[in-house]
Amino acid sequence: SNFCKLIPKIELHAHLNGSLNEDILKQLGCDETSISEYQKLTEILNKTSRNLDECFHLFPIAHNATKTKEKLYMATKSVIKDFKKDNTIYLELRTTPRSEEDMSKEEYIETVVKCINDCKSKYKILVKLILSINRRQDDNNAEESLKIIIKMKEKYPDIIKGIDLSGDPKVGTFNENLFEKARIAGLKTSIHCAEVKNNEEVKKILDFGPDRLGHAVCLHPAYEGSQENWDLYLQKKIPIECCLTSNVICGTVERYEEHHIQELINLRLPFSICTDDKGVFRTNSSKEYEHVMKHFKISPTDLYQFNYNSVEQSFASDEEKKRLIHVLNKVLYLFL
Ligand code: 5GP
Repeated sequence: SNFCKLIPKIELHAHLNGSLNEDILKQLGCDETSISEYQKLTEILNKTSRNLDECFHLFPIAHNATKTKEKLYMATKSVIKDFKKDNTIYLELRTTPRSEEDMSKEEYIETVVKCINDCKSKYKILVKLILSINRRQDDNNAEESLKIIIKMKEKYPDIIKGIDLSGDPKVGTFNENLFEKARIAGLKTSIHCAEVKNNEEVKKILDFGPDRLGHAVCLHPAYEGSQENWDLYLQKKIPIECCLTSNVICGTVERYEEHHIQELINLRLPFSICTDDKGVFRTNSSKEYEHVMKHFKISPTDLYQFNYNSVEQSFASDEEKKRLIHVLNKVLYLFL
């Protein structure tokens, strides 16, 4: 509906390379056949369920298109513009620093930060950066990334806010020592959690107590053996970043109506509505808000309230949160 399109939105979970739309992929030199893989993935939505592996094999398409500083810069700019166009007023973008022929991990971060800074005055959208560790990175490589991330955070404290653990959930494991170091260095933590059933790892993540959890699909007691983790989660009430379309397409949730966001709404637990990879899953924030309204019969007033909650859960400074709340308040009367 128009309502979801027009209201100011808050995005807390968007992977940079997964967010590239078809136009920018073409501009970056990506061939049509690769791009049409995205289409195939979404065409089957609600017909047959896909699996995570099929989704994960699409990320290299975007990675191949962002191998130089120039292209990475263009890609970042396009994603910020897309979110702005969809009336997002606050965006937490996350990305995994890669070293490529043309750039080191440090230069990768510098490029994204430069783009965020350049867009600041032009697009009137507040953008923050979360840097990701990929689950495939071995301990040494992850430590190397962390050192660079901490160094960059000290250089750009207003932009770099947090660290994330993402990548194929069937590979690697959560290393609490690494994320403890990140926390001590002042980074906020957002951890992809329970995308597949892995009670042992989920317990480790909950014990660590990140600032936010990504997805948290298999945390619900409906999943065998997860009651203890669910109880722990209920004590901690860690905000969950919900990405409905992503979960349905990847097949971790069968249908929108069955998404665990329903339980979070019922129990008044903290969550945010997010896109995950708006390019790969051909979605955007408005569509995700619409899915929540439609499938869970949410009123405009309640949906708007979810937005305020997202501001609270964000990694913005207190001053910035106040300003965001002010923007939400200012236009509230137009919508409700
Ligand atoms: P990038 O970090 O390269 O900017 O964005 C793409 C990367 O984000 C993927 O290669 C993958 O590591 C991570 N990612 C994107 N979507 C998901 C998801 O749904 N689950 C997990 N675990 N990782 C994801």
